[in-house]
Amino acid sequence: MQAEILFDAQAALGEGPAWDAKTQTLYWVDILGKRVHAWKDGRDDFLQLDEFVGCVAPRRDGGLVAALHASFWTFGRRGDQRAFLASVSEPAANRFNDGKCDPAGRLLAGTMDMEEKSASGNLYSLISNSPPRKLLEGIRISNGLAWSPDHKIFYYIDTPTRQVRAFDYDLDTGDLSNPRVAVDVPASMGWPDGMTSDMEGRLWIALWGGARVSRWDPATGRCEAEIPVPALQTSSCVFGGPRRDILYVTSARVGMDESALAKYPLSGGVFQIQTQTEGMPTFEFAG
Ligand code: CA
Repeated sequence: MQAEILFDAQAALGEGPAWDAKTQTLYWVDILGKRVHAWKDGRDDFLQLDEFVGCVAPRRDGGLVAALHASFWTFGRRGDQRAFLASVSEPAANRFNDGKCDPAGRLLAGTMDMEEKSASGNLYSLISNSPPRKLLEGIRISNGLAWSPDHKIFYYIDTPTRQVRAFDYDLDTGDLSNPRVAVDVPASMGWPDGMTSDMEGRLWIALWGGARVSRWDPATGRCEAEIPVPALQTSSCVFGGPRRDILYVTSARVGMDESALAKYPLSGGVFQIQTQTEGMPTFEFAG
């Protein structure tokens, strides 16, 4: 498997890729650039916002749901018709980071201290316009989220722990229980960041600082494959394309010095990897 450049976006902090099957569109965000990107038919358009955007997800009714600095919003198809859903009470230094919808249509999104020091982040679950529910607290950098093919296990990454934790997931209630460690990522591979899963139950994890994505078996904790990406700070990944077998990978330029940028000039780009695997779908927001 090889990573190819899809779009040389030069993004500060490209993140949160989501595949909208209805429109065959790859959505992704530049969190620090405050942009929501939409890549379709070989062309990338973006919506410029006035605050950080941690993540977006397609809605069942069309358009997007987004976690901005500390609040949830919906957007119409063209980025218009912005509507407030809910806000969260967080320290001023916190913002939303990675997030994703569960198979029942809830949006799960977590926060982080922008200075990456305090474990003051939380993981929230939002359904429609009800008050957000706190699922986890004491989080440093809330990142990758994924579900098993039977939707009974939720996988979650708090990046500084270098671990993927697994929880039993009750799809009816959205409750988490029975936490355990599924994967320990060695320091030599980089920091586990964004994550997705495939129909065989494997986890695909972007490794920040590792210039690669990796495939893991959460049943054994073993790494089964590593695919180099010509961007040092690979940040997240999602399956998309007509057969949902293309892995799209985001990356970031923020914090890299001149020599690192010279070595990885495509940092901040979006990449594609043709796999032999059918990925899990991007679930849509039901609200
Ligand atoms: Ca991330």
